[in-house]
Amino acid sequence: MIERSQALAALSQDEFDVVVVGGGITGAGVALDAASRGFSVGLVEKADFASGTSSRSSKLVHGGLRYLQKFDLGLVREALLERRLMVKLAPHLVHPLKFVVPAFDGARPDRLLGIGLNMYDVMAAPRLRGRRSGRRAAQRAADDEPEADWSPERHRVISGEEVTELLPSLSARRPSGGYLFYDCQTDDARLVLTVLIEAERFGAICANRVEAIELARDHRHGAGVKVRDVEAGRDFTIYADNVISATGVWADRIRPEELRDEAEFPRIVPSRGTHVTIAQADLPLHAGAIVPAGEGRSVFAVPWLGRSLVGTTDNNYEGDIDHVRPSAQDIDYLLDAVNGFFGTELGRDDLCGAFAGVRPLISSGDTRKSVDISRKAELYETSSGLITITGGKLTTWRRMAKLAVDRVVERDGRHAPCRTEEIPLGQPTDPDMLPRVEGVPAPAYGALAARYGHAAERVLQTAAERAELARPIVAGRPDLLAEAAYAARNEQARTVGDVLLRRTRLGLLAGRELCSGRSDAPQLVARAIARELSWDERRMSEEVERFRAEAQAEGIELSVG
Ligand SMILES: Cc1cc2nc3c(=O)[nH]c(=O)nc-3n(C[C@H](O)[C@H](O)[C@H](O)COP(=O)(O)OP(=O)(O)OC[C@H]3O[C@@H](n4cnc5c(N)ncnc54)[C@H](O)[C@@H]3O)c2cc1C
Repeated sequence: MIERSQALAALSQDEFDVVVVGGGITGAGVALDAASRGFSVGLVEKADFASGTSSRSSKLVHGGLRYLQKFDLGLVREALLERRLMVKLAPHLVHPLKFVVPAFDGARPDRLLGIGLNMYDVMAAPRLRGRRSGRRAAQRAADDEPEADWSPERHRVISGEEVTELLPSLSARRPSGGYLFYDCQTDDARLVLTVLIEAERFGAICANRVEAIELARDHRHGAGVKVRDVEAGRDFTIYADNVISATGVWADRIRPEELRDEAEFPRIVPSRGTHVTIAQADLPLHAGAIVPAGEGRSVFAVPWLGRSLVGTTDNNYEGDIDHVRPSAQDIDYLLDAVNGFFGTELGRDDLCGAFAGVRPLISSGDTRKSVDISRKAELYETSSGLITITGGKLTTWRRMAKLAVDRVVERDGRHAPCRTEEIPLGQPTDPDMLPRVEGVPAPAYGALAARYGHAAERVLQTAAERAELARPIVAGRPDLLAEAAYAARNEQARTVGDVLLRRTRLGLLAGRELCSGRSDAPQLVARAIARELSWDERRMSEEVERFRAEAQAEGIELSVG
């Protein structure tokens, strides 16, 4: 990415067609979409890129089986088509994951679920075929698909042995069979960074730690947005013909009255979702499982980056939305679900990490009328010209971006069709072809290839600069100290937390260890960044302390409350 100081200079001096507020997946998508249609684009993010909901999801790129139950067929269909496209555009970053729904005691797998999975198969096909339904339609659709694109195999019934092969944690319960189906998984924060990097390739200028304070308008320049460089405490104005707010759960903070009065945009009531991570040795999984959690609800347990990831909860939340901590109650709820299903006896002390995020729920003020819009994208345009895009899913970011940029195209009367369907997101690479660097542990090559694609070569060049950079940040994990230096140099990482929480995901996967006081990882990361950002010894200690404060504010150190 462009260096932050250069980005700030360009944002304060140039004039733009579009300025995007918010550097989560939606804002990143809007920047890529607008820039690739030929607009000049600036993007500002008040904290770090992806630091909002987009780094706190369940990491699934999926249609959402549970929306089928709600007969939200349009949403499921749209998300399934996006799922397919994401695997094509970013195969290193979005990959298929098997899911298992087991049955016990000789029972047949649930019939109703089988019907749902049939629909899921049919709806995942690129072209829907007339009235033909079920197995034949899915098969016909599968036959039509071009071979080059990933397409999920149809769901099928599997034996008890196959269930335990995929979900070894279930072996004690001796499953008698189950359903196997496919969805996809990603690293959400890395997806955001990858989309931003692509947006920059098309000329977008992106800067983190720049907060939009208010909309601006003056006679000479027209519209724009007044922003604050949060690091320097300096305010300036970015001039742009169009301002698009992609601020997720913060969407009603810019021009709240205008949104509410004109767009009938009621108040956002955030809902908190908590996840925990567990060592694979304690909960071995080779596939995802849908885990019943009581009262008809369920949570996912999926393998992710060498851990088992369990979540999510969904409860109204009234706390600080800038720092969202997992609650003790939510963690216990997840542990109860896991223990009840797998027959394990895991407790809070067995957790490697935990994190929480908030989804926007919209409330009309009447609690009985609260509507969950978190998966439905909503576009609002108000009299100041502000365009707000919120809701949706990680999976459907491209469609949301298109919705917002189509509106700008319409305003401008341009002919500029959306191109993001064809823009690769990074470039995959073969880990075996990556140059070997002395000291880099073998598992790191695969992990780097999956995270950075072809750019893994540049990370390895960084690792080759100094022996200590070839070392892992945390013993036994593949993430390298070179990634910290690389992130500060090339991805606008500004703090230890940026590296541990979002450029790598160690904060989620090993939060307890990082914050234990026994780990020197925060110090090592601070030292690796220091060279890039010209920190002296004192600044390094301050930054380590700052990370500890952030870890506590986010609850990743697991002092839950
Ligand atoms: C627990 C949970 C699990 C989920 N799991 C999945 C899943 O598995 N699959 C899926 O498809 N979806 C999932 N979702 C939904 C998905 O994560 C969100 O829809 C998506 O991340 C929202 O992205 P966004 O860019 O709109 O918002 P955000 O990621 O929150 O980005 C908004 C950004 O705007 C910035 N901002 C706010 N105000 C300002 C300002 N004034 N100036 C500058 N910047 C500002 C914020 O700092 C933030 O970074 C999940 C959501 C939750 C809560």
